[in-house]
Amino acid sequence: MQTIFDWTFDNSYARLPDTLFSRVTPSPISNPRLVIRSTDCAQLLEISDSTDESLAAYFSGEALLDGMQPLAQKYTGHQFGAYNPELGDGRGLLLGEIVTRNKQRWDLHLKGAGLTPYSRMGDGRAVLRSSIREFLASEALFHLHIPTTRALCVISSDEPVYRETQETAATLLRVAQTHLRFGHFEYLFHSNKKDALRSLIDYTIEHHYPECAKQSDPVQSLFRAVVHRTATMIAHWQAVGFAHGVMNTDNFSIVGDTFDFGPYAFMDSFNPALICNHSDWQGRYAFNKQPQIGLWNLNCLAMTFSDYLSREQLISALQEYDDVFHQHYMTLLGKKIGIAQAQEKDAELIGNLLSLMAKTGADYSRTFRFLADLDVEKRTSRARDEFNDVDAFDQWCETYIDRMSDEDISADARVALMNQSNPKFILRNYLAQQAIADAEQGDYAEVRRLHTLLCHPFDEQPEFGHYADLPPDWGRHMEISCSS
Ligand code: AMP
Ligand code: MG
Repeated sequence: MQTIFDWTFDNSYARLPDTLFSRVTPSPISNPRLVIRSTDCAQLLEISDSTDESLAAYFSGEALLDGMQPLAQKYTGHQFGAYNPELGDGRGLLLGEIVTRNKQRWDLHLKGAGLTPYSRMGDGRAVLRSSIREFLASEALFHLHIPTTRALCVISSDEPVYRETQETAATLLRVAQTHLRFGHFEYLFHSNKKDALRSLIDYTIEHHYPECAKQSDPVQSLFRAVVHRTATMIAHWQAVGFAHGVMNTDNFSIVGDTFDFGPYAFMDSFNPALICNHSDWQGRYAFNKQPQIGLWNLNCLAMTFSDYLSREQLISALQEYDDVFHQHYMTLLGKKIGIAQAQEKDAELIGNLLSLMAKTGADYSRTFRFLADLDVEKRTSRARDEFNDVDAFDQWCETYIDRMSDEDISADARVALMNQSNPKFILRNYLAQQAIADAEQGDYAEVRRLHTLLCHPFDEQPEFGHYADLPPDWGRHMEISCSS
């Protein structure tokens, strides 16, 4: 069976100071069955012809491959603004790191693998619902060109687990360049493990930011790079209308990947103040707070670099955050309205459209997608139907058409740019919910269909047309449980 995973393991994290992990053997889930796999993630991992059974065996905790050295990582973090020293992988294990023939290194992390020393009051399990949600969201973000962890597969079981109701346990094989979180650095800094922190910083540069090693001050260059990647990731979230929901520092990846998917939401009707996590009663992680929370989290990380960088160095790197965010956000939003290189003056045009959308509650993705078919002569477009106040939209359109006349871009090129920038299909909460309801009955067809269509979010895919419709009444403003 082992030949399909012709992998070379090189478990570099396991060579870090041992305060950073505990070795734990996975506790298998019973009667494992493959729910879904990502064929392009399998390709990335150079897996050939995996059978459902082999995936179910190796990624349910039942069997280990030669070279795997499963471990639970120790980290801490700020949760909803408060420091929690007790965190760590409470239900996930790093099985090992593979190096592909292309010399790419991938962490294989099994989420839902059972109890660890960091499980606290938890049961070490992940439910089928949240495993499917993570699988679909991470694969969807990847195909939207947004930095994210990946997922190879979800395995279901018949093992009961208890959340608000009885559910069943599942596992997810998460694939990422690294599972290092801001929280790893916070752990070592706040517990005064200085040598280990220095080793971790050097390790991060060597493995994940090799370009920084060549700079005159590699640590400063590392910190700046993390600031930039974080700002860029959040600019992508804001542009596509993605609310993460739990932006705790233990859910922030040091390489700027979208990481740990809980009660996230892809925006339906545009509500800048959307709070998708119903336990977030103060709205700390509301959609429009995400950019500032990214910076708040980077401040927590900055503290952990304070033995190596001066106050001025840290502040100057943090001060770059706003500009990097703004520049990326403007570029992305510019493309969404067909402007290849947005300029500062476009901020008002874009801001006015967003205000109108917010006022009307226009559907975020459909409005941008439909704007591509604006007929400049007839002043018609499907986007117009998304607005209650069509006069206000018509007025906005006049300024837009005026602005477009300055752009050196043909009508066809404008449409092409917009259609590559505005997904037709997003993972609306209600779509995920329907797929999950079927999967909970043992029928995985809908999860697989949804995954297939989300692999090509910018394509027309007429056979899936109704997946781009507005959500039905029952599917609007769904409250997603953060228990997972
Ligand atoms: P999350 O909200 O998924 O980011 O998890 C926050 C922390 O709680 C992490 O340290 C998790 O490993 C831990 N955790 C979450 N759910 C469980 C569970 N069912 N059993 C054990 N630990 C858990
Ligand atoms: Mg987490």
